[in-house]
Amino acid sequence: MPPLRFVATIEPVSTCPVNCETCPVSRRDIEQPKARLMSLGVAGAAAARLKHEFGVNYAAFGNWGEPLLHPQIVELLTIFRQVGIGTLYLTSSLSARFDAEALVTSPLNYLDISLSGVTAEIYNMAHRHGDWERIQENIAAIVQARSRHPGALKVGLRWHRYKHNEHQFEAARELARQHDFEFKPYFAHMGGVDALHDYEHGTLPESKRRFIDQNVFLEFVERTIAAHVGGSSCSQSKNLIVHSDGRLLHCCALMSSHESGIDFLALPAKVLQAFKDSPNPSCGECLAKGWAGFMHANKDDARPPHEVAAEFGVAIAR
Ligand code: SF4
Ligand code: SF4
Repeated sequence: MPPLRFVATIEPVSTCPVNCETCPVSRRDIEQPKARLMSLGVAGAAAARLKHEFGVNYAAFGNWGEPLLHPQIVELLTIFRQVGIGTLYLTSSLSARFDAEALVTSPLNYLDISLSGVTAEIYNMAHRHGDWERIQENIAAIVQARSRHPGALKVGLRWHRYKHNEHQFEAARELARQHDFEFKPYFAHMGGVDALHDYEHGTLPESKRRFIDQNVFLEFVERTIAAHVGGSSCSQSKNLIVHSDGRLLHCCALMSSHESGIDFLALPAKVLQAFKDSPNPSCGECLAKGWAGFMHANKDDARPPHEVAAEFGVAIAR
C-alpha cells in the first residue's frame, strides 16, 4: 500500500442546472465539458485504482457538476465504499430529483448542502437557476429520512456568505439548528482560477464583474490573495480529480483543465503522478499572484454579520 498521499474528487455528472452567477458553468465565453454521466464501469475501475495504487481514503463527489443528477449515485457511492475508500463526501445544491431515503441510507458519510438564501428572491441572486421549491422538498425529504435512520448521514449547511445575504445569516443558522445540520458559513469566492484571472485582466463578462463587485466580500478575497503572493506549491498535486468520462484533470479550480485531461483508467501510475506533479500553463501566474493559495485557504467564518461588517468597514444590513 502506498502512503496515503492523495485524496480524490469525483465528477459523477459533468453539468449543473443551477448556473450560479460566479461559477464557470454559467460562462458562455468558456468552453464547457460535454455533459455526461459517469458509468458504473468507469466508477469501478477508477475507485479500484484510486484505492489500491494511490492509497486514497477520502473521495469528494461533485466539482463543477451536480452529483445528485446521476440516477445511479447510490450505486456509485457503494462502488467506492466496496473498494475500501473510508470517507465519502458529497456536495449538492439539491436542485435535482433524487431518492432521499436511498441517499441517507447509502454509504455516503457527509452531505454538504450549498445555500445562499433562505428565500427564493435572495437565493436566486447567486444560485441563479436553482429550483427553490424542489430544494425545500428535498430538504424536507432528507430530514424525514434522517428521522427514520438516526445517525445514518451527517449533513452540513454550507452557507455562502455574500453581502446581499448577510441579513439572512441568523435565519440560516436557525434553519441548520432546526434540522440538525452542521452550520458552516464561509466567504463565497468569485468562481475559481478562471474568474480570478479574468477579473484581474478585465476580461470577465460585465454582468459577472458587477455581481462580484456588489456582493462578494472582496475585502476578504484581496487580503487572502495578498497573503499567498509568490506561492511555490499547490495542494492540487495531492488531489486526483476524475472526470465523468474517466479522465484525470490537473486542477479542480480551473475549468480549462477539461481540455487537457489524460486517461486515468489506462495510463501507468507513474505517468499519472508526473502529470499531477507538473504545472499546467496557468500555474505560474496562479501561484505568483496568490490565487492558488486563495483557492485552498480556509474561508470559513461563523462570526455574526455586525462583526464582519465592522472588520471590513462595509454596510451590509438590509
Ligand atoms: S457553483 Fe455548484 S451549484 Fe453552482 S453552478 Fe457551479 S456546480 Fe452548480
Ligand atoms: S497553481 Fe492554480 S492553476 Fe495550477 S493547479 Fe494550483 S490552483 Fe490549479
